[in-house]
Amino acid sequence: MSHFTDIRNIYCVGRNYGLHAAELGNAVPEQPMLFSKPTHSLVPLDGGEIEVPGGRGEVHFETEVVIRIGKSYKKGARADDLIDGVALGLDLTLRDVQSELKKKGYPWLAAKGFRNSAPITGFRPFGGTEALARNDFGLLKNGEEAQRGNVNDMIFDLQTIVDYCAEHYGIGPGDVIFTGTPAGVGPVADGDRFQLRFGGDIWGEGVIRLAK
Ligand code: ZN
Repeated sequence: MSHFTDIRNIYCVGRNYGLHAAELGNAVPEQPMLFSKPTHSLVPLDGGEIEVPGGRGEVHFETEVVIRIGKSYKKGARADDLIDGVALGLDLTLRDVQSELKKKGYPWLAAKGFRNSAPITGFRPFGGTEALARNDFGLLKNGEEAQRGNVNDMIFDLQTIVDYCAEHYGIGPGDVIFTGTPAGVGPVADGDRFQLRFGGDIWGEGVIRLAK
């Protein structure tokens, strides 16, 4: 876990791919929809088991590109200069809990911020937005493709997300941003194996256990 100790804020973008917003019956937002997770949500996708809450309804997987900020933000800075690393992550979500929270108008923390709700691969050097779009990213669940996306299909691109975060919440070195999930989200079953891939390469994997 030592490579996570320098991660500071964890921002996440909701509804950033049109087909995913549609599959959950949500409208596409007019500006980036941001929420955050505690750093205790982080857990490495290093081949081991990851325990998440059981008995609280469905835990959904959402496969996302995660960017890491490497420099202090100044207005007008280019995202390609600010971002110094890229990883793939799962934005794990207690979907039934989230539906209840939405109905009541409560914050999403209980659905999105539980311990181990943010498994991520190691970070790799960021080669720029164009390079990132040359390959699809996605998820193999128990060896079968469950999700596939491309950053070109994001409703709000990396520049817009970074600028929005900076303006409203602040952004700086060590902050990471989960940039939203493409379509194909679904429930985790106890013992499912998740492999996150970019192009033909597996960047990280893990087995998810639902706690008894
Ligand atoms: Zn998400």
